Amino acid sequence: MTYEIKNYIKGQFVNPQDGETVENINPATGKVIGTIPVSKSTDVQQAVTAAKEAFKTWRKTSPQERFKIMNKIADLIESKLDDLALAETTDNGKPLKLSKRVDIPRASDNFRFFATGIMHFASESHTMEDKAINYTIRQPIGVVGCISPWNLPLYLFTWKIAPALAAGNCVVAKPSEVTPVTAFLLSQICDEAGLPAGVLNIVHGDGAHCGSEIVKHPDIKAISFTGSTRAGAHIASVAAPMFKKLSLELGGKNPTIVFADCDWDKMMKTIVHSSFANQGQICLCGSRILVEKTVYEKFKNEFVERSSKLRMGDPLADDTQQGAVVSKLHFDKVLACIALAKEEGGDILLGGESVKLEGDNKDGLFIAPTIIEGLGPNCRTNQEEIFGPVVTIQTFETEEEALQLANATDYGLACSLWTQNISRATHMANQIESGIVWINCWLLRDLRTPFGGMKNSGVGREGGWNALDFFTEPKNVCVQI
Ligand code: NAD
Repeated sequence: MTYEIKNYIKGQFVNPQDGETVENINPATGKVIGTIPVSKSTDVQQAVTAAKEAFKTWRKTSPQERFKIMNKIADLIESKLDDLALAETTDNGKPLKLSKRVDIPRASDNFRFFATGIMHFASESHTMEDKAINYTIRQPIGVVGCISPWNLPLYLFTWKIAPALAAGNCVVAKPSEVTPVTAFLLSQICDEAGLPAGVLNIVHGDGAHCGSEIVKHPDIKAISFTGSTRAGAHIASVAAPMFKKLSLELGGKNPTIVFADCDWDKMMKTIVHSSFANQGQICLCGSRILVEKTVYEKFKNEFVERSSKLRMGDPLADDTQQGAVVSKLHFDKVLACIALAKEEGGDILLGGESVKLEGDNKDGLFIAPTIIEGLGPNCRTNQEEIFGPVVTIQTFETEEEALQLANATDYGLACSLWTQNISRATHMANQIESGIVWINCWLLRDLRTPFGGMKNSGVGREGGWNALDFFTEPKNVCVQI
């Protein structure tokens, strides 16, 4: 199966204007699976022009009309689950089971969630006794830019596009150049669903040539970005002086805190997952595990034992739990991080190296689940995001020490906390510097809740009304009585 990807502009499937493309590689086999456009400013300009034109009518559609068409897109995603999941896995290297169970179903959920959400989106009114009445109108912004990363390709792409469209905006969107296939398939689905031309435009290309053109285009009034803190900082430096609305979902270095009194089996099972799911390439994965000293040895032995049983293999195989990492560039980066951990004095308890598979996967990019101990909180390994199948374990003696360690990075995305002591849990949840705290669970998501990070993990929140608020401009009207 190969995918010759085209841009989707004004309802047409087009090549980039200068015709430049690059090869797309399956990271689990090293084989070429198609080509990707390298779009540039002229392509982005075409997309913006199409979106501006489409906005004249899309902004006037009723929530019911938008609901109908978005619901149809959700139905089509559902009906094409197998094809989309195969494309996601071929492009990204993640186990097919994961694409089928999580990535693709979540993409249709995103469309359905915001399609129905917009039907319930109400505005406020404030009366000033018998003097005046204020009512607040929430209007679409216009043309907005959505830029997403490679780790959950269709899942995160639709998490931005769906609320933007539901709120009545027209969109210029760019998926990651590393995993563009399902975004391309989504453009075909939107076409099939009858989304009017120009309402959603998808341009493919890299950050330097294409993403940056979206960010700096004066007619794009809001940018919703998910990706690295480094790119987020650059985007903010360009967009802020242009007074664009900005939502930034960035990197993390999430703590997992284990107290001796937790539900041990549930914690163990979940932590293997929260450490290594999607090869550790989920922004919410816990990469710093902090364990109460009294149970440290027990935890360490069991965690290593259980993690060593994770089955690594062909992402297409039914029993594979660990697939390939996403690209050669990322593979080299993760291995360099492991080498650095060794230099810093870390002891590798498990993994610590790449794995050579056989057959179709002999040229694939596989890294063994890696567990490191013996490193303090301030070393680079415990400060910098690795975003691969690599975790460290540290020990603590008191609640205060656990909090100190948990908060000892510049990031603040998510934390998972394990204890049966509910007053301790809620007290700590108040003190932890992160946008999301899970108590006795991980990655349990309700799409209505605010999603996002503090500190260097981002600005703003996605999810529920937060997303619809972000993609609309509030206007207060005051009527004197
Ligand atoms: P990245 O920042 O390299 O790229 C993300 C997207 O931004 C891609 O589409 C890329 O082409 C584009 N881009 C890069 N530079 C740009 C620029 N200067 N202007 C405009 N666009 C630009 O990130 P990545 O490697 O694709 O993804 C991994 C990162 O994403 C990790 O740091 C991870 O933590 C983060 N992430 C965060 C969340 C979250 O919700 N907070 C979710 C998933 C991933």
